[in-house]
Amino acid sequence: RSAAVEASTMSESASLAARVREQIPALRHEGGEAARRWAYLDSAATTLTPQPVIDALSDFYATETGSAGRGGHWRARRSTGRYEAARERVAAFLGAETSASVVFTRGATHALNLIAGGLRGALREGDEVVVSAMEHHANLLPWRALAEASGARLRVLPLNERGELDMDAAEAMIGARTAVVALTHVSNVLGTVNPVDELVAMARQHGALSVIDGSQSVAHRAVDVTTLGCDFFVCSAHKMYGPTGVGVLYGRPEALERLRPVELGGGMMTSVTEEEVVFAELPNRLEAGTPPVAQAVGLAAAIAWMEGFGMEALQRHEEELTAYALGRFEAVEGLEVVRRPRQRSAVIAFGLRGVDAYDLGELLDAQNVAVRVGSHCAHPLVRALGLCATARASFGAYTDRDDVDALIEALMQATHFSR
Ligand code: PLP
Repeated sequence: RSAAVEASTMSESASLAARVREQIPALRHEGGEAARRWAYLDSAATTLTPQPVIDALSDFYATETGSAGRGGHWRARRSTGRYEAARERVAAFLGAETSASVVFTRGATHALNLIAGGLRGALREGDEVVVSAMEHHANLLPWRALAEASGARLRVLPLNERGELDMDAAEAMIGARTAVVALTHVSNVLGTVNPVDELVAMARQHGALSVIDGSQSVAHRAVDVTTLGCDFFVCSAHKMYGPTGVGVLYGRPEALERLRPVELGGGMMTSVTEEEVVFAELPNRLEAGTPPVAQAVGLAAAIAWMEGFGMEALQRHEEELTAYALGRFEAVEGLEVVRRPRQRSAVIAFGLRGVDAYDLGELLDAQNVAVRVGSHCAHPLVRALGLCATARASFGAYTDRDDVDALIEALMQATHFSR
């Protein structure tokens, strides 16, 4: 890139972060000590919440609380309207053709369990479920349980030395026996962005269902599920600047039809007699119990907030920062970046030679730098990397170069503790 392009990307990125930061009250409550600046580098775990999202939640509770989908009085009607409007907003954000494709869940984990649980009875002995070696437990354990229950075989796509999916292995593994291909879009440990369009196409070619875990992608790049062509796509609002307690299960209508409802109760049926239960239409059939209306309203506000900046601008900003961070890491003696995928998101796993990962987390925390340390709910991956734990820095819209500089400075200090 030319110096001029680099400078303009850098200033666009800095001004975006500055505008974003003004809207994040948590950044002004940094441990209760206004003078201390915290570098929050754990957005892959959960994002900080913008004021407009907080306002949407509090306005809903202040003025519109009512149970959606049940009751005919005006509060119930209004609440139902807000809930359904949120569903429309999510559908448009993901590029779904119909809002009936959007099922609200408690999060990505819940969504993946509804899919894998919903396919019980649909798989037979000899069928294969393909996952990858970089899956979060949320996209591994439900498939392992499904395979065990149905006599299917769980197959694990290996990674190459850069921490990317081995596409030759994928070609060889995805075939006539494959019933489901369930993969993460972006690794929550290595930051790898997987070529999900190619993998979804492979699955489709062999008549397998494709499931994409978008937990780490959807707030960091534009996603269009219709163009992608996947059968299912899941995400969690709390990683998208939205509230906790809500997530999304997107399914193509024909794919959703194949899911047996595993949760039963109010709202998901149209009639119950002694003899039979008639299930409601989609998506209600997969939403048993009182829906998370306020949370869905909060998620819709978070989507509007992200779209206000533009997904492409958010992606460019994070790419600029990631390149900056990787460059600055070079100056830290003993700093080891864990794998270097060519297509990457703003998630970087690293270690410091001679410093235990958990000690490193504490040393950084003591210097007001918040990173995640551990095995990131991906034990098989971290074990396969030959590690017990890693530190991980992950960025969001509000992350800026000062945050990265604070991390580098704190790491330099931590090198003094190396053994
Ligand atoms: N999938 C990935 C890739 C994740 O990073 C996470 C959370 O860290 C999840 C699934 C689970 O998300 P949640 O805990 O919100 O259900």
